[in-house]
Amino acid sequence: MKLTLVLACLILAITSSARSETATQTFTTSAGPVKITPLLHASTLIEAGGKTIYLDPAKPAKLGGYPKADLILITDIHPDHMDPDSIAAVSQAGSEILAAPAVVATVKTAKPIANGETKTWQGWSIEAIPAYNLSRGPAPGKLFHDKGRGNGYVLTYGGVRFYFSGDTEGVPEMRALKNIEVAFVCMNLPYTMPPDEAADAVKAFHPKIVIPYHYRGSDLSVFQKKLEGTGIEVRVLDWYPK
Ligand code: ZN
Repeated sequence: MKLTLVLACLILAITSSARSETATQTFTTSAGPVKITPLLHASTLIEAGGKTIYLDPAKPAKLGGYPKADLILITDIHPDHMDPDSIAAVSQAGSEILAAPAVVATVKTAKPIANGETKTWQGWSIEAIPAYNLSRGPAPGKLFHDKGRGNGYVLTYGGVRFYFSGDTEGVPEMRALKNIEVAFVCMNLPYTMPPDEAADAVKAFHPKIVIPYHYRGSDLSVFQKKLEGTGIEVRVLDWYPK
């Protein structure tokens, strides 16, 4: 009987540890803590003030065991960012969706937010930052991400500005960002940019903390090395849990 109880507790402990609290980063703001959890690749969970925001929830991120969404933000139309199944999985009655206008054609319940627009939601300010390729594409004269389609986001809560780059190269709009506390920056070839270019762009807008995300296949040591001595903290998290 006792052994059964111990076993049951063990199983419970293993099940609940599916949510890796060590991965969750907590940031202090004047409106209370903001908790950010890497889920997979670009998929991110943001929690503050009792509200839950998902950024780009997409397969094969494990989305069970987390609170349902109050808000879902989508950056672009590619399946690692816009995944109707995952949107449905995290949704509940009243979930709101804000997305780049090109996403709204597929995700009909989303409200559009275009490059340069700012909206407010439950104590957050949400600003859409252009995310696009300068040179890289699938064929000569074509880009993986055309200017004007995809959004990065600057999310401000309690006076603290968080930046999520979306899929982009080190575009002027990124380099011109100001007062970013925490920047989540993509790096992966061939679609976005290599780590050295990402580091160069990050140097230009100088966030306090930079967290590489959407980095599958990239050598992050190159990124870390290039930012050594700049005063920018590079925080490497595991965005690809087994
Ligand atoms: Zn992507």
